[in-house]
Amino acid sequence: MKTLEKDRPGHASTGHSIVDLAIVLLLISLTFCPQLWESQAADKENTPLRLLIVTGGHDYETNMFYRMFDGFSGMTYQAVAHPKAHDWLKSEKAAQYDVIVLYDMWQEISDAAKNDFVNRLKQGKGLVVLHHAIASYQAWPEYEKIIGGKYYLQKTVVAGIEKPMSTYLHDVTFKVQVLDKTHPVTRGVSDFDIHDETYNLFDVSPSVVRLLGTDEPTSGKIIGWAKSYESAKVVYLQLGHDHLAWENPAFKRLLNQAIRWTAGRE
Ligand SMILES: [Zn+2]
Repeated sequence: MKTLEKDRPGHASTGHSIVDLAIVLLLISLTFCPQLWESQAADKENTPLRLLIVTGGHDYETNMFYRMFDGFSGMTYQAVAHPKAHDWLKSEKAAQYDVIVLYDMWQEISDAAKNDFVNRLKQGKGLVVLHHAIASYQAWPEYEKIIGGKYYLQKTVVAGIEKPMSTYLHDVTFKVQVLDKTHPVTRGVSDFDIHDETYNLFDVSPSVVRLLGTDEPTSGKIIGWAKSYESAKVVYLQLGHDHLAWENPAFKRLLNQAIRWTAGRE
């Protein structure tokens, strides 16, 4: 048996030499062609960011909404709506987008779609959640863990504690404070005024990175945050009811930077 093993190394060393040769060639190419690294990084930077924009379950000013995304340079998008949107979370579609933008308010979700959603985040797709999408999937506890907050569409008892129904108010002009001015999502954005809808009595996970806040009495105190979930970067922005928000330069910049940050392209 031992002699047999001794006979075999000749065979094995052929395999080694091929591997060794490949390593040497790789090292040579990296030593003498460092631009290989740079050009690949540059290619990634030059490739348009591809968004999957998910809507459905809530009205919105359709044309004005997509006009905002049309104005973002270096991005393309695929707009999908429920009930067909979950098909886009399947693995075979995943190669077609980098970031999922949720502007839906939808409740039905199958176990398969839940798995697909979580798997896309494990895969590292970015996730940007806007406005009323905080009220989606009320009966799926993992969704609250994914996005870091929950708007209660009805009075709910959570772990023995009664949560009142969350509230909203349209047409409020209020001041937004940038709580973390160094984060890639808020960089370059100063405190600003906006005319938008406020939400109140919604939950925000204590573990999120707080980005935006307000003292407006009809609003929750924290209205924008960043977090991670599995391999995904996640941002929630409470703002964004209609074109009055979508045309606000601070909102557009926050959304643009949120998309880029979740995609790993600050
Ligand atoms: Zn709204």
